[in-house]
Amino acid sequence: MADFEIAVIGAGVVGLAIAARFSQKHPRLVVLEKNEKYGMETSSRNSEVIHAGIYYEPGSLRARLCVEGRDELYALCKAHDIAYQPLTKLITATMTAELEQFDSIQQNAAENGVELQVLDKTAALKLEPNIRTEGALFSPLTGIISAHDLMDYFFHTTQTNGGTVQHRCQVIGIRQIMSGYEIVYDEAGSRSSVTSEIVINAAGLGSDLIAQMIGIDIDKEDLRLSYAKGSYFSIVQSKAKLVSRLVYPMPSDEELGIHALMDLGGRLKFGPDLEYLEDRAINYSVVENKRHAFAESIRRILPAINDEDITPDMSGIRPKLQRKGQPPRDFVIVHEKDRGLSGFVNLIGIESPGLTSSPAIARYVESILFK
Ligand SMILES: Cc1cc2nc3c(=O)[nH]c(=O)nc-3n(C[C@H](O)[C@H](O)[C@H](O)COP(=O)(O)OP(=O)(O)OC[C@H]3O[C@@H](n4cnc5c(N)ncnc54)[C@H](O)[C@@H]3O)c2cc1C
Repeated sequence: MADFEIAVIGAGVVGLAIAARFSQKHPRLVVLEKNEKYGMETSSRNSEVIHAGIYYEPGSLRARLCVEGRDELYALCKAHDIAYQPLTKLITATMTAELEQFDSIQQNAAENGVELQVLDKTAALKLEPNIRTEGALFSPLTGIISAHDLMDYFFHTTQTNGGTVQHRCQVIGIRQIMSGYEIVYDEAGSRSSVTSEIVINAAGLGSDLIAQMIGIDIDKEDLRLSYAKGSYFSIVQSKAKLVSRLVYPMPSDEELGIHALMDLGGRLKFGPDLEYLEDRAINYSVVENKRHAFAESIRRILPAINDEDITPDMSGIRPKLQRKGQPPRDFVIVHEKDRGLSGFVNLIGIESPGLTSSPAIARYVESILFK
């Protein structure tokens, strides 16, 4: 018999959501995490927005799991005292030419089952008097959440159910055995291993490399991740009340654009930008010399911001399957039984809206594993 029924690799919000859900029925579950604590990578370095599900391609996993996850998150927040705020959001057309994009955004949102209201200039300015706008789309279901609270909730639920989260365990090899899989990991410089019937790869920025460990040719299968850094600048407290909800520019094909964000402490931030890291070298510093370009982007939607009103804040790194200049890619969430890897599930390219989708991703993984 294997040591565990289920091993989850990676304790970000996705791995923890899966662990919390699965440990109810399968308490012989372990989560292996390389860092000293859960949630130290992308899951704690993001905008903490509960996305409504407006832009994703209809029928894609990103669209479907975002909408399902959003509703589930609001319910979890209410039931378990997880900090959140249903702030709502405006997507502002800053020039009349941009008003033409409203139809296609609205149509996409409608196909995803997402409510959006069109506001003329007067109505938009009534909600947000300080923004630049010729008209806006209003999303009533967008909000913000404490990602830390959410992960604490998933972590404690896993433990209460009898599951284990092992920190400081970096997975370095996996092989298929009679009873499932042997997972080799490095723990403080020494090698150990566990066996498990089922393995769920939720390793975020390392998820493509975990897939490679089990023998998948990630280049041939187009599963090698690109790292795309997103930096944020915060606004001086005296100007933090210039907006009272999330305000986005019109999206481009590649990104949502630098937007106004509030955290639960009432701080106003702008970000994230998009910077592909050619060598995948992780570096979270936010460079001062982006200040002017950032301020220019912010002024597009909030003209009252000067260069000296903003300060470098934090950054996060998106695990992207989409290459620079190419169209968006969907989440890859696959039970690899067709490759002869029964019981092995890969989750690769879980970029935004991965936080919003996390409880729905857990439900989806359950459906593909146990159907
Ligand atoms: C700038 C930015 C803004 C975003 N904004 C939003 C937003 O507003 N709303 C939203 O819904 N989503 C947002 N996202 C996306 C969201 O943050 C991610 O989709 C989500 O956090 C992914 O969670 P995860 O658990 O898959 O990955 P992670 O949080 O990266 O967790 C993976 C874990 O696996 C561990 N790991 C990796 N390799 C190994 C190994 N070999 N052995 C053991 N452990 C390993 C890592 O240490 C890590 O803890 C944003 C992302 C970025 C970068």
